[in-house]
Amino acid sequence: LQYVSESDPEVADVLRAELGRQRTSVELIASENFTSPAVMEAMGSVLTNKYAEGYPGKRYYGGCEKVDIVEDLARNRACKLYGAQFANVQPHSGANANLAAYFALIKPGDTILGMGLDNGGHLTHGSPANFSGKLYHAESYGVDPETEVIDYDALLEKAKEVRPKVIVGGASAYPRTIDFPRMAEIAHEVGAYLMVDMAHIAGLVATGAHPSPVPYADITTSTSHKTLRGPRGGFILTNSEELFKKINSAVFPGSQGGPLMHVIAGKAVAFGEALKPEFKTYIDHVVENAKALGQGMTDGGLRLVSGGTDNHLCLVDLTPADVTGKDAEKLLERVGLTVNKNTIPNEQRSPFVASGIRVGSAAATTRGFTKDDFYEVGLCIAGTVFNADDDAKLADIKKKVDAMLEAHPLYPGLEY
Ligand code: PLP
Repeated sequence: LQYVSESDPEVADVLRAELGRQRTSVELIASENFTSPAVMEAMGSVLTNKYAEGYPGKRYYGGCEKVDIVEDLARNRACKLYGAQFANVQPHSGANANLAAYFALIKPGDTILGMGLDNGGHLTHGSPANFSGKLYHAESYGVDPETEVIDYDALLEKAKEVRPKVIVGGASAYPRTIDFPRMAEIAHEVGAYLMVDMAHIAGLVATGAHPSPVPYADITTSTSHKTLRGPRGGFILTNSEELFKKINSAVFPGSQGGPLMHVIAGKAVAFGEALKPEFKTYIDHVVENAKALGQGMTDGGLRLVSGGTDNHLCLVDLTPADVTGKDAEKLLERVGLTVNKNTIPNEQRSPFVASGIRVGSAAATTRGFTKDDFYEVGLCIAGTVFNADDDAKLADIKKKVDAMLEAHPLYPGLEY
């Protein structure tokens, strides 16, 4: 931090403090991860200086020959990684990718059918608080109240009833495998497009640990920063040349200005990393570790929504411990475990309070936490929420957590 320290000690202090925070807590937020130093280096580079409106070979600015190379690297690697024919790597975020996908497919006022926020969907899948619920007529589907797994028969019925132009697949808090061929069948039966937002599971899809939506969806959108472990950003895939043209216009000039070329360079590096065999090993561990984490919590007395996990996350019902998601989030922070509160199916509380937490294995797996560690972390989570008032027990748990953190240092050698 030589330059920031000299020119802006206040900001340097924040960067140092945040590195310290990341090092000294177990990151269990399912949408977070730790990028490689190579990804961070690409993002903190001279590419941030370059305007490059347009696409490789067809820009509105001079001097784009070099950034064209990096955008082509990112696009080609994304296509190779996901077996897609076309990729747009310019969306600044997952929300921007979804905005552009809707712009490419439908007109304001058209009906979209996405997974409800309270059932694990994302804000951009039709929440009234989001552009997707304001610009479009949004309807929702969800999980079966008994099994807590997506009810595809009910989805078909709903689709027949509301005749959406787009069905949105994908979720932010859903621990089970999603049946994309079934969703495509349903969408095409009612004459709708299938748009899949694979943001959470993008790393798993890349290695085959979750079946790919790409052959079935008309458009697949994603973030690059969750299980995929790249820089914060979005991207869009399709196999249709006609839709690719529409997606490109919807991203630029439709909804964004100049692309963030430094972030696109970071995406190229991350896609390259994900194409290596080590990434498959990493994702295999992520999946195995999420199961161990779930087992620890179950053995500790908590209930997992849907009874378990197939992917990188568990959704936990805190009702057995009689504690809210909001309180659990604070309690767990005290013992060095970072999680987020989350609504659960059939939620009775407001989303600000919630009855559950969402925990994921992607970030702590990156820093080397093993299956045994994750099982222990699961027990620690349960131990914390069941002993909210027992300071001695919580201090004991904090010691265990600290020992695991020390055994698996984050960014060893990085000095701020
Ligand atoms: N889509 C899904 C399924 C998500 O879970 C998220 C973020 O959590 C997004 C989109 C939005 O991504 P971003 O925060 O980059 O806009």
